[in-house]
Formats: sequence, C-alpha cells, structure tokens
Amino acid sequence: CEYKLDANESPWDLPEKIKIELSQLIMEGFNANRYPDSNAIELRKDIAQYCDVGPENILVGSGSDELIHIITNAFIGKGDAVLCPTPSFGMYKIFTKISGGIPVEIPLDENYNYQIDLILEAVKNHKPKLIFLCTPNNPTGNSMPTSDIMRILDSFSGIVVIDEAYTEFANESMAKNILDYSNGIVLRTFSKAMGLAGLRIGYSVCNKELASQLYRVKPPYNINTFSQKAASICLKNLDIIHQRILYIKEQRENLMALLNQIDGVQTYPTEANFILIRVADGDKVFNALLERGILVRNFSDHPMLKNCLRITVGDEKANNALYKVLKEVVSLI
Ligand code: PMP
Repeated sequence: CEYKLDANESPWDLPEKIKIELSQLIMEGFNANRYPDSNAIELRKDIAQYCDVGPENILVGSGSDELIHIITNAFIGKGDAVLCPTPSFGMYKIFTKISGGIPVEIPLDENYNYQIDLILEAVKNHKPKLIFLCTPNNPTGNSMPTSDIMRILDSFSGIVVIDEAYTEFANESMAKNILDYSNGIVLRTFSKAMGLAGLRIGYSVCNKELASQLYRVKPPYNINTFSQKAASICLKNLDIIHQRILYIKEQRENLMALLNQIDGVQTYPTEANFILIRVADGDKVFNALLERGILVRNFSDHPMLKNCLRITVGDEKANNALYKVLKEVVSLI
C-alpha cells in the first residue's frame, strides 16, 4: 500500500547526515567480527545525558518490547497478579502470561482516561507484584497526569512500569523524577520519535538497585554493534531529530483539525504521533481505506474500542491523502 499509517513509525528513513556518519564508521573499522559491548557503555552514557540521569540508571534492550520481557522475567513468577490498563499496549499481558503471571485488566473510563481509584482498589483486592502504565497511552493517545503517576508510586510498594514510548510527542515525562522512587521504571524507545524501529533499541530508566535486578536477566549481547552506534549518532544529531518531532506535532494538529471536519468521524485527544478515531463501521472503513492504498490499524474487534481505528501521523502528503480518502469512504458507508 502507498501509505503505511498503522504502526506509529516515523515516516522518514535515517537522515542523510546520520547515514553518512554511520557508513564512515563502517568503512573505518567496525569490528563486526567482535561481539558487541554487552554493557553498551557508550550508548548508555549518551542516553543518560539525553535523559539527565546517570549511565547506571540506564539499561538497553532490543526494543522496549524486550525490556517489558526482561522486567516480567525479573519480577513476575507463577500466579503473580499484574495490573494492565485496557485498552492499552498488548505486550504487557502477553509477557505477563509468558512469565507465569496473571494479567488483571483495569479499564480506562469512557473517554479513555485512567481511573486511578480503580487502580488503587485493584491494588488492595489483587495484591499485584507490578503495575503497567502507558503514557501517552497506545492506542488511545491520552496521557496520565504526572501527579496521578506519583500517587500510584507512593501508595504501592510493588514495581510500577511507566511506558513512555511516545514521550517525545508529549509534554510531561517521569524519566528524571523516577529516580526519587525505589519502585518505578520508565521505558523509552528509539522506535518512534527517533525513527529507528528497524534497529530495535529501547531503554529503561530507574534507580541503580532496580537496574541491577534487571541486569541479572538481560541477555549479554542483546544490542548489536550497529544499533548501538546508530543510536549514539542519533543522539549526537538531536537538532535534526527535534525538527522532525516538531514537524510531526504540527502535522498532528493539522490532521486533527481535518478529521474533526468529517461528519461521522469522532476523534480522541492525543499527545502521541497517532490519532484514535471512531466511525460507524470500523471494519468497512478499514477495508475501504486499504483498497485505496492506505493502511491504518483496526481495533474494531476490541470490546472497548468498537469501530475504532488508529491512524499514525505521517508527512503532509500522507495526511492529506488520508483525509481525502477517509472523507470519501465515510460518506459512502
Ligand atoms: N510500548 C508501547 C506503548 C508501544 O506502542 C510500542 C510499539 N508499538 C512498544 C512499547 C514497543 O516498541 P519497541 O519494542 O519498538 O521499542
């Protein structure tokens, strides 16, 4: 299909300047024959600087997916309850189950806001080992206020994982404040705002003691040499990355305004690089978009996301195409 707006990726390949730096590195001696640095020392230093924390607070994973797995492996055993928001990112439940745990779904309210009272009640009733929070939440786009996150961190003694995969498109982050807590882990990724989804790099930010518990279950060579270097080079070219983030945020507002003009499309507020919409018949609209070359993500079969589609914000051309086609399709159905 011509427009791929289904996976919340960046619309662009690596910037030319970063490609050139990477190819120089390969030509000058890349040591592909050697194992990668199992501690990713250089990359962790660069990430630490980006997040204004210390390298000892950073652990790097093959995507934040792997970090979710590392976390459930480290802390979840057979029969342990894990609170998972719903609707949210599906891997929390999957990795909880793989580790032998029992996911307890905590529903968001009808506007997809977190219900903090339900979370605190479930803490009492289920005595979970761990709570996943996702902010901005995938696939709904809304953020959880920092004050609510802190309330949970303060009133729960187990582990709280705050997945900030889309944080660069949002206004608040817990990455620095998390070090004030003994039980909080922030997850981040290079897959979204940094545009490196294909290179598989995510990281966690937490205090040193928690990090050392995660280290115990981390596979030694989980990030290859190329990915470590590419991520470091990205962080040394933050001006280019920041321009791209700014562009996507502007496009998000433009696309939101366009979508709000279409009769039969309901939008939900977002702080991420995607917009959740509700239409009269999600399956039909999804298929009609696909037939016209536009792939979005269909959540119609999720009980809390009936007739909902998630659209990744693309470049101007893609967003305009989506708007035109969606407007036509919705009027036909
Ligand atoms: N968390 C959230 C909320 C996501 O949406 C995604 C990707 N869809 C991930 C984690 C995993 O991303 P990655 O493994 O590429 O870092």
